[in-house]
Amino acid sequence: MNTIILHTQNLDIANRMADVVGVEFEARATHFRFLTDKKLDVTPLREVLGADINYLPAFDFTKVRLFVSDMDSTLINIECIDEIADFAHLKPQVAKITERAMQGELDFNASLIERVALLKGLDVEVLDRVYTERLRVNSGGKELLQFLKMQGIKTAVVSGGFRYFTQRLVQDIGLDYERANTLAIENNHLTGGVEGEIINATAKAKFVTELCAKHQVSSNQVIVAGDGANDLEMMAVAGLSVAYHAKPTVIECADIVISYGGLDIIIDFFDD
Ligand SMILES: [Mg+2]
Repeated sequence: MNTIILHTQNLDIANRMADVVGVEFEARATHFRFLTDKKLDVTPLREVLGADINYLPAFDFTKVRLFVSDMDSTLINIECIDEIADFAHLKPQVAKITERAMQGELDFNASLIERVALLKGLDVEVLDRVYTERLRVNSGGKELLQFLKMQGIKTAVVSGGFRYFTQRLVQDIGLDYERANTLAIENNHLTGGVEGEIINATAKAKFVTELCAKHQVSSNQVIVAGDGANDLEMMAVAGLSVAYHAKPTVIECADIVISYGGLDIIIDFFDD
C-alpha cells in the first residue's frame, strides 16, 4: 500500500481528489492521507486541484538529524543579489543572469563573478536595507525550524548568495549553521569581488557531507531543500530532497515537491 498526502485542510479539495483516486481518505490535523495500491502520477493531479500532493516516501522520518536549506527563494522570499543590484539601478540586468543561472543555463561561478562585479562601489549600507526592508522568511519557514528544533534536528542554511544574509538569519531565526559567499568590502563599499572559495553547487553538497561527518549521521538522516539548479548536487547527497517553488529541473529530481504551500508542509511527513 502507498500513502499519498494531500497537503491542504480544504475538505472540498480532498473530496475531489477522492473522486479521482477512488479511495477513502483519512483527515489529519494539517492534511489528508489517501491509502492506495494504485500507482498514480501526481503531477497532473497537483495542477488540476491546485494543491501540493506527494507520495509518502520510503524514508524513516524518525531518524532525521539534519536539515539543510538553500537560502534565496527557498528559505527566504528574494534573490538577495537582485535586490542589492536594485540599489545600483541594475536589477533587471542582474535578475536576468540570476534567473538563467538558477535554471542551470550558465556556469555558476562565472555568472556570480559577473553579477558581483556590477555591484562595485555600492555602500555596504544597502546590505542592511535589503535585509531589513525586503528580506522575509518564506511562509511556514519559522514554524518548520521551530518544529525541527523540538525534534532535536540540527538546521543549516547554505547559499550561493552572501554570508551577510546567512549570518543575520542564523542570529534572527536560530539556525545552527550557515555557509555562503563573502562579498569583498573596502572603506565601507563593495569592491565588486568575492573573497575565498565560491559556494557553488559542489561546495553546497560538500557543506552537507561535512555536517554529516561532524554529527556522525548518514545521508539517510538528512533532508535538503532547494529551488535552483545549484541545489541539485546537495539534493543528490541527501537522503531526502525537497523542491520548494522550484525550477522544473529541480522538481524533476526531488523526492518531495512543494509548489503551492509553505515550508511547514514538510512537517506533514513527520505526522505518524
Ligand atoms: Mg535558491
